[in-house]
Amino acid sequence: MSSIPLSFEFFPTRSEEGRRKLGITRKQLSQYQPEYFSCTYGAGGTTRAGTLQAIIDIINDGVAAAPHLACIGASSEEMTELLHTYKQMGIRHIVALRGDVPSGVGFGQQGLRYAYELVSLIRQEFGDWFHIKVAAYPEFHPQARSAGDDINHFVRKCQAGAHSAITQYFFNADSYFWFIDEIQSRGVNIPIIPGIMPIASFSKLARFSETCGAEIPRWLRLKLQSYADDTASIKALGLDVVTEMCAQLLSQGAPSLHFYTLNQAGLVSTICQRLGY
Ligand code: FAD
Repeated sequence: MSSIPLSFEFFPTRSEEGRRKLGITRKQLSQYQPEYFSCTYGAGGTTRAGTLQAIIDIINDGVAAAPHLACIGASSEEMTELLHTYKQMGIRHIVALRGDVPSGVGFGQQGLRYAYELVSLIRQEFGDWFHIKVAAYPEFHPQARSAGDDINHFVRKCQAGAHSAITQYFFNADSYFWFIDEIQSRGVNIPIIPGIMPIASFSKLARFSETCGAEIPRWLRLKLQSYADDTASIKALGLDVVTEMCAQLLSQGAPSLHFYTLNQAGLVSTICQRLGY
């Protein structure tokens, strides 16, 4: 069994039935002895209660929990209050993000604007209590003015006190290694953990990739597209491509893998098993 640590990301559920199913997914993924389970947070506090509940459920499973926190439009007081709650629960990991403004919602000029401000706030208020993870974009953030600008902002976020970063998903390992070289040449040496997206459906993946700026290489896109509604073939190709990329990342020094599970254990579990976990 590989000893390189794994982590798994979930999103909060909206119903008791969803919560029950997520409990089963977590149980299945617990067998890989994850370093932690994380749970996303809706910008503007839209999932505040749901994220908190999911974090409580993770702790009750006996696994370390890493709540995500998205700061855009939130006040420092609001963020600090939630962080105090997490500290009282014994939580040591936070994924600190800006988040995206939900469409139709205006936050105006008030509140925190960028993730580096949240990182500074956490360090200022809580010192070293939390291990702060931030987001990294090997293929660059979709709103960045330029690649150089995005790297500058990432470096600033690290200088504000981030301990490690999880990347947006990608299907081209070179972008990850290039990103590492670039930030190391700027004196940033924190662990950069590849975020891994299993491929379950082409249309959903294409839509999401368009929004978040992740590139599906042309050959892969056309091949997936050619399978149309044949989900078995889509999943089979996705498993081969993603597992091969994970193996390459691990053999070339990735410190850990973070899986975007979409609250499903099946594909992620197969990838882990194929990797020898
Ligand atoms: P930032 O680091 O603040 O960067 C955002 C943009 O602003 C970039 O283009 C950057 O170049 C630019 N920028 C940064 N600083 C400055 C500055 N000083 N001046 C001008 N421009 C600047 N979203 C959620 O809502 N909830 C989640 O739980 C969540 N989890 C995520 C987990 C991971 C691992 C990843 C990779 C993303 C996640 N996201 C989540 C999505 C994320 O919130 C969005 O990608 C968001 O658009 C950017 O967040 P950030 O923390 O990277 O922002």
